[in-house]
Formats: sequence, structure tokens, C-alpha cells
Amino acid sequence: MKVQEVLNDLRRRFPNEPEYLQAVTEVLESIEEVYNQHPEFEKSNLIERLCIADRISSFRVTWVDDKGKVNVNMGYRIQHNNAIGPYKGGLRFHASVNPSILKFLAFEQTFKNALTTLPMGGGKGGSDFHPRGKSNAEVMRFCQAFMLELWKHIGPDTDVPAGDIGVGGREVAYLFGMYKKLTKEFTGVLTGKGMEFGGSLIRPEATGYGNIYFLLEMLKTKNIDIKGKKCLVSGSGNVAQYTCEKLIELGALPVTLSDSDGYIYDPDGITREKLDYVMELKNIERGRIREYAEKYGCKYVPGGRVWSEPGDIALPSATQNELNGDDAKRLVETGCIAVSEGANMPSTPEAIEVFQKAKILYAPGKAANAGGVATSGLEMTQNSLRLSWTKEEVDNKLKQIMSDIHGQCVKYGTEKDGYINYVKGANIGGFMKVAKAMMAQGII
Ligand code: NDP
Repeated sequence: MKVQEVLNDLRRRFPNEPEYLQAVTEVLESIEEVYNQHPEFEKSNLIERLCIADRISSFRVTWVDDKGKVNVNMGYRIQHNNAIGPYKGGLRFHASVNPSILKFLAFEQTFKNALTTLPMGGGKGGSDFHPRGKSNAEVMRFCQAFMLELWKHIGPDTDVPAGDIGVGGREVAYLFGMYKKLTKEFTGVLTGKGMEFGGSLIRPEATGYGNIYFLLEMLKTKNIDIKGKKCLVSGSGNVAQYTCEKLIELGALPVTLSDSDGYIYDPDGITREKLDYVMELKNIERGRIREYAEKYGCKYVPGGRVWSEPGDIALPSATQNELNGDDAKRLVETGCIAVSEGANMPSTPEAIEVFQKAKILYAPGKAANAGGVATSGLEMTQNSLRLSWTKEEVDNKLKQIMSDIHGQCVKYGTEKDGYINYVKGANIGGFMKVAKAMMAQGII
């Protein structure tokens, strides 16, 4: 089938899955030209096989809260494509989780993982369990109940989950503990583990750091120095925190952070000391970003989005579709020169169009935030070798991988006028690798 026919068919079959259709449309439209140059792809209906997940498992998760109430949540694992390696992708725990969101994430993950140059297929999973307000014991019981089903579907050479929204080091550890008990095996079946039991140095930092390494590569193409640049960062979780950390280290000025209740604007910049406070607030006390404004006496906008503020660089690091066309117009009008996505699909299609029309530097998440999964891949390697690399070794490998991903975007995405279309570059780079592997493996 031709690309447009496949898209129409998917819209007809999955009308209630807007995020999945959004991700598929973006990828297919940008690879159409290359796809049409390969009649052998069409003959084996490669596109349709690449858009439909290999397998989707859904299950009931039953757990008891601190008051003794029995709760029921949905659990999912999407195994999208394993043409180049075991399924690999995070678990998301958030009230908004549904099949459409996980299908979009698993689809995107397949191309992202291909771009890292490491042997990892694409997957994603999670639950509509919302960790906000839950006690530590409740989170533990939920993770254990979730793993009671998930373990049947995963394995170190089959499918290797990791963290995502709502799943950090604490949750990965509880999940790992239960997997180990059920299987009686100590294997590298989850990544993002603690350092004491097989984790990798730099894994917690990798997505945020990797995004800034990618940004530096983009800025280099225009001879722009990051020093002193005002940066708008959204979110205040894992990705946002380590994005800020690297920005501070490089002499840039992060001025915003947010959570689902609102955002803070600190014109003096978030310093190392202030970031330590945020880490304590978010990771230990599990408080709200509003408390930052109360402590440091800066502006807090309830319900607002950080893109209302002027900045040189935008680093969306919270969630999908958090930056729309109007936000993008405002950013461009107020002088934003670069957007690099820490989150997955944070910019709407309208926003991407605005950035590309204005010809500013714009990197989609599947390229810019691939450092997280790449370092998960490095954790898998260390687990298999049964040794640990130093911080410098992992960080240098991460830098090299981000530079290689940038190189692939330049190779496949440079347009006639010299503008680098990073969306096209990342999509074609990822697609070609998976497509070639699928072609070689026959019709399965
Ligand atoms: P965390 O759970 O650590 O943090 C998420 C942050 O985003 C929180 O501040 C949260 O606020 C906010 N947020 C979540 N959902 C919404 C929403 N619907 N509206 C507004 N704010 C929201 O997650 P991560 O930092 O790990 O993930 C952030 C993004 O980065 C996601 O898109 C994820 O897929 C992507 N990503 C993460 C990787 C990783 O290694 N962790 C790797 C690659 C991509 P609140 O506390 O109020 O919920």
C-alpha cells in the first residue's frame, strides 16, 4: 500500500487513538519520498507491518491501598517491533495512560532506538495508576501487583522495560525486586536500576544531558555559544532536572520549571543550590513546584505554560502536546532560536510547522531525547558483561551517540537551501535501519 492509503486505513481502523495517529502521520509523511524509491518495500507491505505493533498485552492490576480498599487499574505492554533487538522502552504510570498514548510512544521508540545505533527494538508500557498522593507502601504494592502480570511478557533477551513519567528509580527497584522473586533470576531485565544492583552511572542524568549534548551539536552548526542563553524548561521531573543541571554547568540560564499545576519563572536563573532544592522537593518530599516560588520569591503562574515567557532556547521536558501552534508563534516572535525536545512529542504538528517555517533549530524528541534509552542500552551491555563502566566512560559514550544521531539527522535531513530538517532526518535515519532489517528477515 502507498503511504497515504496506509494512513487513511489506520485512521479508519483506530479513530479513537489521536496520539497514535499523530505520531504515525508525522513519520509516514516525512519518509514518503524515500519509501517511494524502494518498490521492494511496498511489495512486502513494509509500512503497514511497521505501523501495527507486533503484540499488545493488557491486564488487570489489583492492589490494596493503605485504607484497605481494593483498587483496580489497567496495565499494558506494547511490543511494537523487534527487528533490530529485544523490545525496549519505558513504563509510564499516569492517570492519562491509555492504549493510544502507549501505542504512539512504542511506535516512536522503535525509530529512536534505531537511531542510537544500539541493538534495541521498540516497546512501551504502563498503567493508569496515578502515583500522585500515594504512600511509599502503596506504590510498592502497586508495582508488585503490576509485575505479577508483566513478568510473563518480558525478559533480558525478549523485552527490557525502563522508567518514564511516574516511574523513576524507586518504582524500577520495586518492579525489579518482584521480577527477581518470581523468576528466581538476577538478570538485566529492567534498566534504570540502582547502582547497588546493576544500574549504570549516568543513567538518571542521561535523557537531560543527552538533550543538551544534542542542542550543542545543533548550535555548533550556527556557531552559537550556549553561555548566557536564557532557557525555558518545562516539567520538573527526571528529564527537566538533569536538563537544568547540564545547562547550569555550561553557563546557560534556565529560568522556568513546571508541573501539572503551573509554572515558575525565576529571572535570576535556577542556580545549583536552587536545583538541589527542586530535586529534594520533587524526588523526596514529592511536593509541588509552587513551593519553589514561595521559597525564592519569584513568579508562579497557576495553570500556565512556560512558553508564555521569552527565552532564547526552549526545552520541553514534561509531556506530549504541551506546546501548541500559538505557543510556537509566541516563542518565534520573542526571539527563540532553538527548540530541543526532552519529552516525547511535546510539540503539536502546528507548532512544528511554525518552527520549521521560521527555520529555527528544531529537534524532535526521538533524536534529542534518545540519550536516555541509549544509556539504558549501555546498562544492558554492562549487565551482560557483568561489570560497571566509570562515569566518564558512560558520559563519553553518551556524547558520541548524541553526536552520531545528529550526524544521521544532517545526512538525511539537510534541504537544498542548507536548512537541517531534523524531523525528516531522524525519521528517515531510523526508518531505513528498521526497514532493512525487516526486509532481510522475510515476511513475518
Ligand atoms: P517524571 O515523571 O519524572 O516528570 C514528569 C514531569 O512532567 C512532572 O513535572 C509532571 O508534573 C509533568 N507532567 C506530566 N504529565 C503532565 C501533564 N499531563 N501536564 C503537565 N505536566 C505534566 O517524567 P520524566 O521526566 O521521566 O519524563 C518527562 C518526559 O520525557 C516524558 O514525555 C517522557 O516520555 C520523556 N522521556 C523520558 C525519558 C527518561 O529517561 N525518563 C527518556 C525519554 C523521554 P506532575 O508532577 O504534576 O505530574
